[in-house]
Amino acid sequence: MPLDADIAAAYRQRWRIEISGAVQGVGFRPTVYRHAAKNRVTGWVANTSAGVVIEAEGRAKDLHAFRHAIVTDPPPHAVIHQVTEHAIAPTGDTAFQVRDSQSTTPGDLLILPDLATCNDCLAEVFDPANRRHLYPFTNCTNCGPRYSIIMGLPYDRPATTMAEFEMCPACRAEYANPRDRRFHAQPNACPDCGPQMALSTDDGTVIADREAAVDTAIEQLRAGAILAVKGLGGFHLFVDATNPDAIARLRQRKRRPDKPLALMVPDLAWAKLLTHVDAVAEQSLTSAAAPIVLLPRKPNTDIADNVAPANPELGMMLPYTPLHHILLRGLGRPVIATSGNLSDEPIAIDNQDARARLADIADLFLLHNRPIVRPVEDSVVRILAGRPQILRRGRGYAPFPLPTGTAGQPVLATGPHLKNTTGILRGNQFFMSPHIGDLDTSAAEDLLRRTTNDLSDYTQTEPALVACDPHPDYASTRHAENLGLPTIQVQHHLAHVIACATEHNLNPPYLGIAWDGTGLGTDGTIWGGEFILVDGEVWHRVAHLHPFPLPGGDVAAREPRRAAFGLLYAAFGEAGLNVEALAPVTAFTAAERQTLLRAVEKGINAPLTSSMGRLFDGIAALLDIRQRATFEGQAAMELEWLARSGNAGAPYPFTITDDMIDWRPLLTAVLAAQQDGAAKADIAATFHATLADMMVAVARRTGVPDIILTGGCFQNRLLSELAIARLDDAGFKPHWHQQVPPNDGGIALGQAVWARLQRGKAPCA
Ligand code: ZN
Ligand code: ZN
Ligand code: FE
Repeated sequence: MPLDADIAAAYRQRWRIEISGAVQGVGFRPTVYRHAAKNRVTGWVANTSAGVVIEAEGRAKDLHAFRHAIVTDPPPHAVIHQVTEHAIAPTGDTAFQVRDSQSTTPGDLLILPDLATCNDCLAEVFDPANRRHLYPFTNCTNCGPRYSIIMGLPYDRPATTMAEFEMCPACRAEYANPRDRRFHAQPNACPDCGPQMALSTDDGTVIADREAAVDTAIEQLRAGAILAVKGLGGFHLFVDATNPDAIARLRQRKRRPDKPLALMVPDLAWAKLLTHVDAVAEQSLTSAAAPIVLLPRKPNTDIADNVAPANPELGMMLPYTPLHHILLRGLGRPVIATSGNLSDEPIAIDNQDARARLADIADLFLLHNRPIVRPVEDSVVRILAGRPQILRRGRGYAPFPLPTGTAGQPVLATGPHLKNTTGILRGNQFFMSPHIGDLDTSAAEDLLRRTTNDLSDYTQTEPALVACDPHPDYASTRHAENLGLPTIQVQHHLAHVIACATEHNLNPPYLGIAWDGTGLGTDGTIWGGEFILVDGEVWHRVAHLHPFPLPGGDVAAREPRRAAFGLLYAAFGEAGLNVEALAPVTAFTAAERQTLLRAVEKGINAPLTSSMGRLFDGIAALLDIRQRATFEGQAAMELEWLARSGNAGAPYPFTITDDMIDWRPLLTAVLAAQQDGAAKADIAATFHATLADMMVAVARRTGVPDIILTGGCFQNRLLSELAIARLDDAGFKPHWHQQVPPNDGGIALGQAVWARLQRGKAPCA
């Protein structure tokens, strides 16, 4: 017998296995424990700030099987980036243990985004016999808050906002049991020991608490009240989506007359009742990210018309916390779930702050006492050409990194001014912040500053270089300059192109079609209708729209009639502005026209632009679809909706000479068609088709197969679909955004990648 034991011992090996990736807060260690038991492996597993480390002892055959099982059968939300192992001396362990976290070597740890409630937890919440029946903070290692509650690393309860809640014996037992779904679920809680709800007025008077708070909130919603609801990454404003009067009140109080509002529906069946949900859309809707998905709406539903006026799509999301499930199931109908903020400010996350800022909007406040560390807004996704495309990257996706190909020095990118996101490029991963939004308010600027510090902390990275936009008036540019680090400015449209190329891991040369509202060009004019060829480490603006003046500059973004004014002036001179038959002309008084004319002639506050976004605005104004917009992109959206119902005729003419695309023949043709009484919808459809022709024409002249579609204009579904189809037909390979938005929300990625490439070329710094 002793001899046998000696032989057995001689065949034993011990491996130290290190795993990096998204391996904490996902039930990784219990899974390792399970695989160890199955494969007769002893030793231990622990979290480190670099990921997970295992010491495993057993026969070589079993160790191989154990390692294989971990890699091929990890827990649902884990993402393994790297596994390394080496042999060490056996110690003769007789059991397998799950150890507490080991601190702290800077490393490769990834923080998970917040995850929607899993089906196991959902079943418990609606099981009257379960101790968590109707408990709004139920979660487990497969679901619940992560990024929004993390204060530091490693990811352990004391480093989250759950630190202040001491677990009861029942919760503690789950937390300590490696075989339990809640083993080391850091936000683990129950009605006895965890956070609680309260319903309050704006002055802080509590009307009801715990379950009664939620019941009363449901009654109030049913009666048409506007509720501020504290959720996962911040506050929402909730209102009954079938009550047009209540919605009108919300729109008026939020000063948001037309912009589409998103819906939260009780369940998937409701989503299918209201919209067309295909398999890809269903996958996005029901994913752990649970984003808002833009879906084609069905006619004749109970949804009030003023939810998304005239919009052929509805933004739809499923409940993603137990609280949302309980509220929506109780109400039994969809609600508007819009960001809890004043027009352009970041969303509120703090109870007191929300009561102060939203006092004039919300009738009541449904609050809880689990603090939110940082705002994380709902993500927005749509399905384009059969694939999900992220239009706003927030909850469920951020701060999960995007792969960027090659490694290099760490770079911070401060992003654009509108729809800001920021991010850190570390190694070959870009850690993009959640959507921060427009930087027009000091609150938003503050959030940008806090977010860059935050990213630097949790990636344990000191950036050596800062990338930003060249526009001197962008708050993000100012922030970059104030950091006191070497800074590289990356042209706005180039950043758009590089962001998309990085997503698709493209090698130059490629042609980027960057069409958007505005971005500062290298010649001091405002660009936005750009064709950019990236060739090796240099880029060329190979084609662009013929420039036209934009009287009023930034004001023109909200007044399509000004874009039309500039187009008419560029095409016909002063004569074009005296045609009283044209809607945008008569949208100004004679005196206003004189003032604008002088501004344009003298070039005072009338910058030249090659913006495609403004060309869209101008055409929308000429067709009298809209002269003034209440939100960015409204006129172009309405032009697209109209075009979808029209029939495209023969394309309108345009010419390309050298790098200049002359749209003036197109404008003349649009005006002629209008005069001939052509239907607006048909003109709009022909305009879209003509632009697809324009892309193909420039692609042919350039002769590069890979074509990138980027910029805010490609939020236009019709334009994107036409571009993809026409480029494909013509033998090109079109590429479009999926992981980061085509709008300015994606450009931080391009800034960081390009800046690092440029810096690499410099001899020293
Ligand atoms: Zn769960
Ligand atoms: Zn408990
Ligand atoms: Fe842009």
